[in-house]
Amino acid sequence: MNISITKTQNPKVKPEASTLGFGKFFTDHMFMMDYSREKGWYDARIIPFANLSLHPASTVLHYGSEIFEGLKAYRRKDGEVQLFRPMENIRRMNNSAERLCLPTIPEDLAFEVLTKFVQMEKEWTPSAEGTSLYLRPFMFGNDETLGVHAVHNATFVIIASPVGSYYKEGINPVKIMIEDEDVRAVRGGTGYAKCGGNYAASNRAGERAEQKGYSQVLWLDGVERKYIEEVGAMNVMFKINGEIITPMLSGSILPGITRKSCIEVLKKAGYTVTERLLSVDELSAAMENGTLEEAWGCGTAAVVSPIGELCYKGVKYAVNDGKIGEVTQKLYDTLTGIQWGKTPDTFGWTVQI
Ligand SMILES: *Cc1c(COP(=O)(O)O)cnc(C)c1O
Repeated sequence: MNISITKTQNPKVKPEASTLGFGKFFTDHMFMMDYSREKGWYDARIIPFANLSLHPASTVLHYGSEIFEGLKAYRRKDGEVQLFRPMENIRRMNNSAERLCLPTIPEDLAFEVLTKFVQMEKEWTPSAEGTSLYLRPFMFGNDETLGVHAVHNATFVIIASPVGSYYKEGINPVKIMIEDEDVRAVRGGTGYAKCGGNYAASNRAGERAEQKGYSQVLWLDGVERKYIEEVGAMNVMFKINGEIITPMLSGSILPGITRKSCIEVLKKAGYTVTERLLSVDELSAAMENGTLEEAWGCGTAAVVSPIGELCYKGVKYAVNDGKIGEVTQKLYDTLTGIQWGKTPDTFGWTVQI
């Protein structure tokens, strides 16, 4: 597809690495293309970063037809820029689109526009330790009518944001509260899709946990409130009595690319990794009898985030004395090594831009 390019007349001053934070600054350009049932995807364009203009009846504003992705471009020590498993994001986006009745994007077209856009914004990829260029592709239904139905028109956008190191003061284990009231998703719902609606539904529990001094909630399944699902917006893994356990992809859990990568790294290193149902009762028994050795969340933003304390029904349990565990540290070092090009990518996961 022909991608038209309009360069900005007012390039921005790039922020200092120390001020980056997450999602506060945006690059000079954005990618956009539109979809209609008649034309398919059309009008692919890279344009100066600007506000969007939407019809007040636009589907997304009323019925929440929105999906997104999150991946990073990493600056290697040799100055080159690379992506981590971008095809995984593209495939997952299409699975999300299918669930929400949004149009899919042919994989090679999605790859082409993503890499062209990153090439255009490449110099925005920061080089300070732990920093990266966060890419946020998103798609929304954009019919100009209040009728309720699968959309006929959609818009796909990619924006990019230079982001700071997640761990500025070293890796600090987080405190997590097990949520037994609100649920994030149910099987048959949209839990496996990366859609904005899942986030809207989970904010209340997150707020409540924060007020009590916890950084995230650990979600239980929506039917029985019995099985562990995810932690905040990350997948979760436990090491119990030498075995690494992560909730299986039951339909209500987001299939994280970091989760998948952790499993592959661990298996290659000879660990036993089991994807299965893990009940909160089994977990609290392991916390009580001391067999819970490590716990961590995993996702693109933090890579891995060690859990130092879990609270369930008002009872607090320390995990590994509140310190990062050996497996958690090894995963962090292996994945970040590959992502920032510090160690050879023996998995073939990186794509140079
Ligand atoms: C994006 C996301 C994850 C992590 O997925 P990655 O591909 O590893 O970044 C986990 N859970 C939820 C709910 C998410 O939205």
